[in-house]
Amino acid sequence: MSVRTRFAPSPTGRLHLGNVRAAAFNWLFSKSSGGVFILRIEDTDIERNVDEGEGSILEDLRWLGLDWDEGPDVDGPHGPYRQSGRSELYASKVDRLMESGGAYPCFCTEEEGQEDPRLEEVTHQYSGACRGLDPDERNARLSAEEPHVIRFLVPQNHPEVTIQDEVFGSISFPINDIDDFVICRTDGRVTYNFGVVVDDIDMEITHVIRGVGHLSNTPKQVLLFDALGAIRPVFAHLPTVLGPDGRKLSKREGATSIQEMKAQGYPADAVLNYVSLLGWSHPEEKEILSKEELAASMSLDRVGRSDCQLDPDKFRWVSQQHLAQHSLQELVGHVRPFIDRDRFPDTGDNLSAVIDTLRTRLSTYNDINDHLGLLFPEDKVRAELLRKEVGVDPEVNRTLIAVREKLQTLERWEEKEIGTAIREAGTSAGVKGAELFHPVRRVLIGSEKGPDLGKILVGLGMGEGITRIDQAIGE
Ligand code: GLU
Repeated sequence: MSVRTRFAPSPTGRLHLGNVRAAAFNWLFSKSSGGVFILRIEDTDIERNVDEGEGSILEDLRWLGLDWDEGPDVDGPHGPYRQSGRSELYASKVDRLMESGGAYPCFCTEEEGQEDPRLEEVTHQYSGACRGLDPDERNARLSAEEPHVIRFLVPQNHPEVTIQDEVFGSISFPINDIDDFVICRTDGRVTYNFGVVVDDIDMEITHVIRGVGHLSNTPKQVLLFDALGAIRPVFAHLPTVLGPDGRKLSKREGATSIQEMKAQGYPADAVLNYVSLLGWSHPEEKEILSKEELAASMSLDRVGRSDCQLDPDKFRWVSQQHLAQHSLQELVGHVRPFIDRDRFPDTGDNLSAVIDTLRTRLSTYNDINDHLGLLFPEDKVRAELLRKEVGVDPEVNRTLIAVREKLQTLERWEEKEIGTAIREAGTSAGVKGAELFHPVRRVLIGSEKGPDLGKILVGLGMGEGITRIDQAIGE
C-alpha cells in the first residue's frame, strides 16, 4: 500500500515555524516513501477563519517548496479538498452511523445534558439522557424538528481504548473518560473529530502525522474509524514546539511566521531544514541537509518525544550554512531585492563582486544591509575625512602612492592580480605585512581589519578603488 499523508490546516492564521513543521514532516515522509501528499483545508470553524487564511497558507507552502499532489487547487479523486465542500459526505456518514445504532440524536438542553446550551462539542460529563431514549419518542421528536445534536455512541465493550502511536507508543485511555461526544451540531455542521476521520478515510490517508496537541483527540478518532468500518491509519504525533522563551507558540506568533522568515531573508530550504530538526534527527546526526537529503532520510522512528524549543541562533547558523552553499549567481539573485536602496543608492557596477566580498558575513539575504556599509559608507563625507587622516603620515603616503601606481597599470581587475600588485608596491616602498595592508585597508573601508584587499578592491571596482586611494594621498 502506498503512503498517503496529509496536512490539514485550518485557515485561522498564518503558518509559523511550529505549525509548518507538521506540513514539512508529512511532505518529507511521503517523499521518502514515494507516496502522495495531500493538502486539506479544514475551514468548517467559520467563526475562526480569517480572510486570506487559505491564500496565505498556500503561498507559504509553495514558497517552502512543499507542493501537494491533491489539494484545493489540484483536482484529485477524493475532492473537494476543502471541508466546507464536503458536507454531503459527512451527512451521509452521520446517517449511516445513526442507522447502524452507532450514533443518536440528543435533544438535551444545558441542564439536562449538563453542558453548553449551544449543544456544541462538549467533551465531559454528558448525562447520557438521550442515549436510551425510546425509539418512538426519538422519532416523534425528530419529526417535530426539535433542535438536536448527534452524539456518537461510545462502545462499552472494552474498558479501554488503546492507540498505537509511532512516537509516543501504545497509550490506553479508560473508555469511561470518553463521553458520547457530539459529531454533528444543531445546525448540521459536523465537529472536528468527525470531519477529520471521515476525510482521512475517504482520502485513504495511511499516516496521520501532526502535533502532539491532537493526541488527546486520537482515542475519539480511532473509535470513529472502528465504527465506520475503516482500518486505522498509522498515527505519529510530533513533540511540542516551544518559542525561544520556552512558552507555547500561538497561531498569532508573528515573529516566527513563515512570512516573516521570508521577509527577513531566510532561504526557504534553510527554513525547511531547521523545522525538520524540531523533533527529528538525521541517522548520522547531520544537521545541514538539502530538501532532497531530508526527503531521502526522513523516518518516523527518529522522531523524539521531548519538547523542542526554537533557537534563533541555531536557525541563523543553519541559514548561514545554506547561504554558503549557494553559487554566487544564485546568491546575487536572492540578495539583490533585499538591498535597501535608500541607504545604499549606489553599490557600484558589479554587484556580484560586492556580494562575493561580503558573502561570508551573511546568515540571511537581508544581512547584506548590515555589511554594505563596509564598502559603501552611508556617511561619505566622514569616510573621506578618515581617508585623509591616513595619508598624513609621510611613510604611509609613500606606500599609498606606490600602490596607486601599481594598481593603475593593471589590465585585469581581479583578486589575484590585485594582490600581487599590492605586494609589489610594498616591495618598492620597502614595507610588507601589516605595515602595508593595514593603511590600505583603512583607506578603502575605514578599518584595518576586514576582507582581503583583493576582494575589497574587486567589490569596489577599479574606478572607486583608485579614487579612494587618491583621496588619501596628501599632495
Ligand atoms: N485542522 C487541524 C489543525 O489545524 C489539524 C487536524 C489534524 O491534523 O488532524 O490543528
